[in-house]
Amino acid sequence: MDYNITCIPGDGIGPEIVNEAKKVLTIVAYEFGHKFLFKDILMGGASIDVHGIPLTDEAIADAKAADAVLMGSIGGDTNTSPWYKLEPSKRPEAGLLKIRKELGLFANLRPALLYKDLSDACVLKTETSKDGFDMIIVRELTGGLYFGKRETVVKDGVRVATDTLTYSETEIRRIAIKAFEIARKRRCKVTSVDKANVLDSSRLWRAVVNEVAKDYPDVTLEHMLVDNCAMQLVKDPKQFDVILTENMFGDILSDEASMITGSIGMLASASLNETKFGLYEPSHGSAPDIAGKNIANPIATILSAAMMLRFSLDLTEEADAIEESVKKVLSYGYRTGDLYTGRDNEIKVSCSEMGDLIADNI
Ligand code: NAD
Repeated sequence: MDYNITCIPGDGIGPEIVNEAKKVLTIVAYEFGHKFLFKDILMGGASIDVHGIPLTDEAIADAKAADAVLMGSIGGDTNTSPWYKLEPSKRPEAGLLKIRKELGLFANLRPALLYKDLSDACVLKTETSKDGFDMIIVRELTGGLYFGKRETVVKDGVRVATDTLTYSETEIRRIAIKAFEIARKRRCKVTSVDKANVLDSSRLWRAVVNEVAKDYPDVTLEHMLVDNCAMQLVKDPKQFDVILTENMFGDILSDEASMITGSIGMLASASLNETKFGLYEPSHGSAPDIAGKNIANPIATILSAAMMLRFSLDLTEEADAIEESVKKVLSYGYRTGDLYTGRDNEIKVSCSEMGDLIADNI
């Protein structure tokens, strides 16, 4: 079958890592009898340099017309790049905010996966990390405290700031459904994280998640308070499969979860809308300090491409094949510079060599 994939190479290491993901996808297409039709669009600094703005209407239209969007990363050195002398609405990141809004992306998925072969990179004690862990955080992306009414006023000569945390049952239901659907493609467990002992919004969250759970009797649901979840992530990360949570809790917990894997170049992410459509990108930024040197780790982008196959294109076997190939290549000892520790069994490879190895092992 033919699939249209819009690619945003972006800035910094973006073009290098997207190239490697395309290389792997091309082999997957060959092995499984599909055709991936790639179309590149400009966003971020690359678009500013050509069009004067970080995202054009034509680029948005191309993204909307695709089956899915695969992105590298955008942005430059925030201290030295001329892009950051522009007003905020014209800077690279404005393009990312705009495309997320235009595509209606409300669900953010961030897997935190520690491969057994990389357990040395984990900051946790060996007995906690030795078997690896594999969880995915499903974060609501468009509601809650970050989007509520806010104000700072002076009352009786004292400055007072207020932010409001609002969630409707509609917003909660749609993200909960995403989490249960994803759990069904994994180990069938959802941990819903809230602060229901204090917040009204969390009590509604818990009630709606319980309602949704009735449609998924095959999925185990547990509720966990956010403070406990922050502790459990470092105490026993293996217990988690799918963590479902609201915007701010998800922002904090997903950073915590990614830190305990110890390797930023390995972490994929996806943002989905109401349909199967999504934007897939590594969790890291454009790494301007190593751009153009062919030393970046392309695995986060390659694993983002695997997520794209799994969640937007329903190509489960193909996604499995990419993930297995990554595991295999790591187990052979191949490492890009960010993962290389100099042990005897390790072989240091470049960005493009890592892409070749993963493609060859599909
Ligand atoms: P960064 O993630 O780009 O880099 C942090 C450190 O990690 C750097 O030392 C970098 O070399 C290293 N690193 C990151 N990805 C790597 C990879 N794949 N392989 C090897 N090493 C890797 O974060 P930063 O330096 O804070 O930000 C740089 C730019 O990226 C900024 O303009 C920022 O706004 C942008 N950014 C973009 C996104 C996005 O596109 N979604 C996300 C985060 C940051």
